[in-house]
Formats: sequence, C-alpha cells, structure tokens
Amino acid sequence: MTHSTDLNLPLFERAKALIPGGVNSPVRAFRAVGGTPRFITRAQGAYMWDANGQRFIDYIGSWGPMILGHGHPAVLEAVQKAALEGFSFGAPTEREVELAEEIIRHVPSMEMVRLVSSGTEAGMSAIRLARGATRRNKIIKFNGCYHGHADSLLVKAGSGLATFGHATSAGVPQEVVQHTLVLEYNDVAQLEEAFTLHGPDVACVIMEPIAGNMNFVRASVPFMRRARELCTQHGALLVIDEVMTGFRVALGGAQSLYAQAIPGFKPDITVLGKVIGGGMPLAAFGGSRAVMEQLAPLGPVYQAGTLSGNPVATACGLATLREIAKPGFYDALGARTRALIDGLAGAASAAGVPFCGDTQGGMFGFFLLPQLPQNYPEVLNTDGMRFNTLFHGLLDGGVYIAPALYEAGFVSAAHTEQDIADTVAVARDVFQKL
Ligand code: PLP
Repeated sequence: MTHSTDLNLPLFERAKALIPGGVNSPVRAFRAVGGTPRFITRAQGAYMWDANGQRFIDYIGSWGPMILGHGHPAVLEAVQKAALEGFSFGAPTEREVELAEEIIRHVPSMEMVRLVSSGTEAGMSAIRLARGATRRNKIIKFNGCYHGHADSLLVKAGSGLATFGHATSAGVPQEVVQHTLVLEYNDVAQLEEAFTLHGPDVACVIMEPIAGNMNFVRASVPFMRRARELCTQHGALLVIDEVMTGFRVALGGAQSLYAQAIPGFKPDITVLGKVIGGGMPLAAFGGSRAVMEQLAPLGPVYQAGTLSGNPVATACGLATLREIAKPGFYDALGARTRALIDGLAGAASAAGVPFCGDTQGGMFGFFLLPQLPQNYPEVLNTDGMRFNTLFHGLLDGGVYIAPALYEAGFVSAAHTEQDIADTVAVARDVFQKL
C-alpha cells in the first residue's frame, strides 16, 4: 500500500529528514525489500496497526521480546505499578534480585548474572569478561552470527585461518578486529584447525546456538559438542549468545536442548536479552561464579550502566518470565509455531514453490530452498527477489514478517489457531503468484 493515501509515506518523509534513513535501527527501513516501512501506532495481543489503521498479524514481536504478545494484562499491571513507584533510582532494588533469581533458576549454568540494557551491551561485556578472565585477546565467532554491534564483533572472515577478520563497518579500526577470527558455522574441522593454530591465545568462542540472524540455522550437536571440548581443552571460554533463543525456544534456552544431547553440556558465559525484558530495554550476561567474580566491583573487569537493572524494565521482565514459566506454556507455543510452518509448507507445495522451514518453541525460520541450510553461504542461495515478493504479498494481506530474509520469526502465546489459519490463507494466494 504505497499509493497517495498511504499515511505511512508522509511520516517516512518527515523521519528521513531528521533520522538517518528515517529509522533508529537499519532493518526497519525496508531497504532489503523496498517500499515504505509501516509506522506502527499501537499493538495488542498478536496484532499491530499502522498509520493507515491497517491491522497486521505480527510475526516479528519486536524482534523477539514479545513472547506473550502485546499488552499482556499481568505484564501491563506490573509495569504500571512499577512506573508509579519511580522510573529509575541508580541504586539497587529487590526486583533486580528477584529477576536474577528467576533467570538463574531456569538457566543453571548462570550462577551469577549482571543486568544491562541491550543485547549489544551484554555481548560486548561478555567478550570483555572472557578476555579479562582468561588474560587472552583472541576471540572466535562464526560467519552469519550476530552478537550486537560492538566493534570487535562487526567482522567478516579474513582470507584464511591464519588471517584474522576485516571490519564490516566503517569506523572500526583494523587494530580492533585483528583479534577476531571468523569461521564457518557448523564446520568442525575448521574449528579444530583454528584451535591447533591459535589455541593458547583464544579467550572465547562466541556463537548463537540457533542462528536466528541467518534466519534459522541450528548448530549441529557434533559442532556444539566439539566447541565445548575444544574450549575446555585449551582453557578458552564458551560464550553462548542466547539473546534471541533464551526463554524463546525453551524455558532453559537452547542450551537446555543441547544439554539433553550432550551430557553435562553447559556454556561458561550466557548472553541474554529480548524476552527477559518483555519489550523493555533489558539484557543480561552471566556464568560461573568464578568467572563472574572477575567483574567490577569484585574484580578487574570494568562494566557499568546508569539504567542497568532499571526498575520498570525489571518489573516487565519478571512478569513476563513468571507467565512463561507456567506449566504447558512451551508445549502450546511450540505446537502453534509448528502449525504455522507446516501450513506455509503446504501452501508453498501446492504452488510448486521450493520451501523448507524449522521451528523451536516460539521461534521459526523458513527458506525458499528445498533443504535447510547449515551455514551462511548456503543461506545466501535463497532467491532474494522471490522472498521480497512474498514479503510484500504477505504485508499487503495483513501478515507482518521480518523485512529481510536473514531474520528469524516469532510466534507469541497470543497467536490463535485462527491467526495461523488466516496467515496460511494469505500465504496460499501469495505463493501462487511467486
Ligand atoms: N545477539 C543476538 C543473537 C541478537 O539477535 C541480537 C539482536 O538482534 C543481539 C545480540 C543484539 O541485541 P540488541 O539489539 O538488544 O543490542
């Protein structure tokens, strides 16, 4: 809907004059798919409405946090109550302790936790902590995984295992990324070789356990097992970035699923965000007591934040975590998410469009490919033009998925069977036109 009566258009023009690209985070600008971003005026349950008053079934959920849907009554009540008590104190509160207790109860690899305000901040701090705790500089990350926009993580692979990365953003000095080695996801041999070459210098391996920043690619069990073994063997820390997967794919995060397949499996540091804030700016990182005690004020690794552990954000996060910890929550969410992908697969198949998808809990991904990719180069095989047509067809039909094919999608507890059926009905028409 980009005709002259589109009320999103004048808003976008105004925004572009004042805000770079008209947005406060690049993907919102629709650059990958073209067209005018929808300016959202309100959201409730599984739905969002734009400036035209058009309703969308929301499969972005603020890029992950809104696992209960928008405006869940218990969360609203907690936030309203907290707001009346004060927005920010810059001093400790009981609610921070309660949230720490709640997180640790469900993610036992985290014996201690520190709260921050964004996933970027959490990831950046986790890297500093890993370097400080090991007194080493080098870090290993994987092609296609995103851990926020800290300088040392905005890196693409160098020309080989002996060469470290190149910055993917202007403004990042080569000196800052010279310690970051970028490897292919799910490539056990390459990881082994990297440790053979650099083992004594590696502070940590950081990875998304299910890479939602290349749509949806699972770390294979052998890959995760070997990463754990190699880190232990070489004295490096395994940092699992569960900003997206934490409390989203299971109550104990993706690490709880790997622990079922790999006896005794646990990361040294876990990074959390999104769901733990329930839509407010809140994220966290945590790990073993020995590692976490390296942080200031106990240890030499500095980390701080004016708004860290914010009382309104912690109220929102706590209320959210208490709802999702209720029995049967993930069974219902997982079944609904699976029904969506099965429905889309059926619609694609009826239209003869190649399609494959995967889900875990309330997270899903799909590709217009016959087979699920295992790494970033395979993800790049997706037909971008076809995806863009699909995206705009769905959007015009009132279904809002991420405006880029490298992004996972999210179903909330507020999505009904009818919402899924309506989505599949829209998709059936769009697939026919692909
Ligand atoms: N890590 C992962 C896995 C993410 O998906 C994201 C954001 O999408 C981040 C870190 C960064 O979090 P934030 O956007 O809150 O800074």
